[in-house]
Amino acid sequence: MASFVLVVHGGAGALNRQTITAKLNCQYMAKLKQSLETGSSILTDGGSSLDAVEQAIKVFEDSHLFNAGKGAVLNKEGRAELDASIMDGRTHQAGAVASVTTIRNPISAARLVMNKTPHVMLVADGAEEIAREAGLEIVGLSYFQTEKHWLHLEKAGTVGAVALDRYGDLAAGTSTGGIQGKLKGRVGDSPIIGAGTYADNETCAVSATGQGEYFIRQVVAYDIVARMRYGGCALKEAAWEAIHGTLTKSGGKGGVIAVDKDGNVAMPFNSLGMFRGYVKNDQQPYTYIFEE
Ligand code: ASP
Repeated sequence: MASFVLVVHGGAGALNRQTITAKLNCQYMAKLKQSLETGSSILTDGGSSLDAVEQAIKVFEDSHLFNAGKGAVLNKEGRAELDASIMDGRTHQAGAVASVTTIRNPISAARLVMNKTPHVMLVADGAEEIAREAGLEIVGLSYFQTEKHWLHLEKAGTVGAVALDRYGDLAAGTSTGGIQGKLKGRVGDSPIIGAGTYADNETCAVSATGQGEYFIRQVVAYDIVARMRYGGCALKEAAWEAIHGTLTKSGGKGGVIAVDKDGNVAMPFNSLGMFRGYVKNDQQPYTYIFEE
């Protein structure tokens, strides 16, 4: 059977070797591994890259450790407003939700928008309405106000996943609480197709994390695809240029995870660290925070 690859990230940021205690480090590594195992068991069984991406991201959304789902940072008014998107590299179908406040797993709502509506993005109560009607889990506002916010601990960034399945189909997804203290209604790059997420079977699948405004301005996820498609770049070169060239020159910080149609992986970042990992076929998963 053909091979598969899954790559995940738990966000880039001003992570610091001194502030990440050994205990916290273990917790983050365990969640990265759990996400990789969840997604790879789907791919092992011949499941689709879309299913693997959605389920791998749900593991992060259900954890208080990451800035997505349960652990989402709060806006200026003390509320979590969540964004997410997903894209199918085979069909270029995509779905996204933005500024949702009551959906436990925004990545599943994004998939619902892709599968069940003629649209690409729904926001706020419009997205919540279709999620509720479809039977997705709805939670109260207090669900997101985890202890961590009150302790003011360092929060890891956005989460995302990209996958290549046994049929050669690529998929990408990203989910986030955005930026701590953001203005009400602010939407970042994560739900913007082309900025925070992109998947194209002919080239690669990308999920981004970092200062969303810069990723939107530089259309980072699609920039990597375009470098491969029109410039003939290899994945590593395309992703490296997008982050260390274009994004860095614009003053933005962050990183991407990407996998190409041949299963090559790239995970460049210009921030201090990025929670990330990958698994190829039945090999052991690899996880990292800082430079390798
Ligand atoms: N990119 C996300 C945003 O701007 C934040 C992050 O990756 O931490 O909404």
